Amino acid sequence: MEEKRDIKSLTKEELTAYIKECGYPAYRGGQLYDWMHRRLAERFDQMNNLPGKLREELEETCTLRTLTLATSLSSADGQTVKYLFRLEDGHMIESVWMKYHHGVSVCISSQVGCRMGCRFCASTLGGKVRDLTASEMLDQVYRIQQISGERVSHVVVMGTGEPLDNYDNLLKFIRLLTAEEGLHISQRNITVSTCGLLEQMDRLATEGLQITLALSLHASEDEERRRLMPIAKQYQIKELLRACDRYLEKTGRRISFEYSLIAGENDSPESAERLSKLLAGKNCHVNLIPVNPIKERNYRHSAAAQIMNFKNILENNRINVTIRREMGADINAACGQLRRDYIHQANSQSAGEENKRGNYSS
Ligand code: SF4
Repeated sequence: MEEKRDIKSLTKEELTAYIKECGYPAYRGGQLYDWMHRRLAERFDQMNNLPGKLREELEETCTLRTLTLATSLSSADGQTVKYLFRLEDGHMIESVWMKYHHGVSVCISSQVGCRMGCRFCASTLGGKVRDLTASEMLDQVYRIQQISGERVSHVVVMGTGEPLDNYDNLLKFIRLLTAEEGLHISQRNITVSTCGLLEQMDRLATEGLQITLALSLHASEDEERRRLMPIAKQYQIKELLRACDRYLEKTGRRISFEYSLIAGENDSPESAERLSKLLAGKNCHVNLIPVNPIKERNYRHSAAAQIMNFKNILENNRINVTIRREMGADINAACGQLRRDYIHQANSQSAGEENKRGNYSS
């Protein structure tokens, strides 16, 4: 059977060309685009201003809804909801909805699994399975907006996956998400986080976008970084910081540095002093993230006093810093943990079923 066409990943121009190829006037492409990206239709039969024949043809040849909600978990304070979605091929991905005073932010995944191997991250434990398409990234935002009933104002590409390792789909996603005829989320409200793929960071700087680049630094010296992140064997911190300077120069956007605080690894006052020196005089912002322990690794959450001390040292050195809101262990917030637990549970259930079947047949 021929694979269905992923029309939600097409730009308005590409979609219009496709609709014309199918023998319909160009304006039908505009109507279809509006249904998908502004009205967030989940079925072709909702598109009541399109001819019935076109809707039937689309149903047969194209995909529209790429995600099905598997489960969700809300934090006790109701400010964070974690969603687990099933993709059409059965793989699972996580996204997070967060309510802030400045609006609603959604953190999306860009890949199924991840191949970067950061030691403190649950998402990478099974390696990378595949890249997400632009439509699968968009649908995380679209579905969450529909489910929550609240307009999404900010999007962070910081969930499972290294976004710059899925560069072309990421770019399509950003252009569709920010298009005037779609949800029209401001580019300034989009943050893309990278563990430091230097060539792609330079390429991103030339795309004419106004998004924020967040570099996952997590260390104040190369040796410390190499212990936590395999990518650090490829690029030194000073090379990455130069790439950040180039990004700022080209786009005018200040860089955000992500720093996961791990007890006894990178949370000492000396690390904070070193980090301050590295970032001195830069137009940047540091986001401290108290690490969420994962069962498969031995990393511990830094003590509250240690976190505050680290922050104070940066502040005393005039570095702009915030502590990321903790989502609470009550919703198992470590990135990739919900997906792993769900898969683990499903596997043990099916193993149980197999055993039962085995018992019955014996
Ligand atoms: S922290 Fe990000 S880049 Fe590193 S392994 Fe996890 S998902 Fe991949």
